[in-house]
Amino acid sequence: MSFLTFSDLEMTYPDGTHAVKGINAEIEKGEFIVLLGPSGCGKTTTLRMIAGLEIATAGSISMDTVDSTNLRPGDRDIGFVFQFYALYPHMSVKENILFPLVSAGIPKDEANKRLLELAKRLGLTDMLKRKPTQLSGGDQQRVSLARAMIRNPKFYLMDEPLGTLDADRRQEMAEYIKQQQIEMAVTTIYVTHDQEEAMSLADRIIVMKDGLIQQIGKPNDVYDNPANLFVANFVGSPGMNQLKGSVSEKDGQLFLKAENSDCSVTLTENVKPGDEVVLGIRSEFIHADKNGDLEGTVTMNEYQGAYRIIHMETGFGNIIMRADASADYQLEEKIMLSFNPQHTRLFDTVSGELI
Ligand code: ADP
Repeated sequence: MSFLTFSDLEMTYPDGTHAVKGINAEIEKGEFIVLLGPSGCGKTTTLRMIAGLEIATAGSISMDTVDSTNLRPGDRDIGFVFQFYALYPHMSVKENILFPLVSAGIPKDEANKRLLELAKRLGLTDMLKRKPTQLSGGDQQRVSLARAMIRNPKFYLMDEPLGTLDADRRQEMAEYIKQQQIEMAVTTIYVTHDQEEAMSLADRIIVMKDGLIQQIGKPNDVYDNPANLFVANFVGSPGMNQLKGSVSEKDGQLFLKAENSDCSVTLTENVKPGDEVVLGIRSEFIHADKNGDLEGTVTMNEYQGAYRIIHMETGFGNIIMRADASADYQLEEKIMLSFNPQHTRLFDTVSGELI
């Protein structure tokens, strides 16, 4: 059995909202798992069920081989970091960090020893006497992290811990969290709606939508082989280009024919004439190629420093290509395009599932 297991886990709130609709996952000891999905998809509800702050209405949770579905939060051995630092304003940094140990009745000497080690590790040594209001947002969040870590729990649960920080601090704090997690190897469940954060932090990502898991995989698997069109679009910035059409055949060659134009592109995949499919291709695998079979008309050219994002209108609708920073295409310019065939993915138009 894995270290943390959800089996057919469900949550229906008293008002009838079916927030989590039966999810299954097996998480190994020491893994950094990110629950990723748009607002309202059930991430926080799932995290709160792991924490014991909500009790699942069906299914079960096992934590370190113990059926924890109905355990009280205090019996679950977790450290929780919230989006809002939730520090006690009248207590000093030191008292805030020590709070979980005081509540657990840990002897003072042992508690102080852990405090000093942790403060050093998180760069908080000079701030121990201050009150939370005398700290920056990033420092407050590090105090929150210290408070979650000081008990050496079996699990860290983090709910959008970077949500309120500004961009510079987010990056710094994300690196901090990742580094601490690698060093301490504590199994971590981290909630975010930010796919970039998920990609950079996770060992594995659980992508959720409408209370259901869409895919579980390593960041590169989720990016390269999205299980369905939702994941293809949600993960990656920009999301995967999607060319919708029907499969046709001529002289033994398969083509994808666009719905609303006579435009078509060659296909190498294993589909048959008449199939309705969506071809997915990431922006970095589209190239300007005078022998290409798709024409694009440039509608926007965004300079990003290291590269450019070129928006084009084609017979399949809008397509985004990632190009070299030097690719100075003009508006209305026409470019012939080709796709890197090993990077095209086909999805069933009706189900949206990867074929
Ligand atoms: P996420 O964390 O992905 O944004 P949540 O788990 O917070 O999603 O919410 C999932 C769904 O459950 C949403 O529709 C939300 O409005 C609803 N919800 C969350 N908490 C409650 C509650 N206490 N009572 C009723 N509905 C809730």
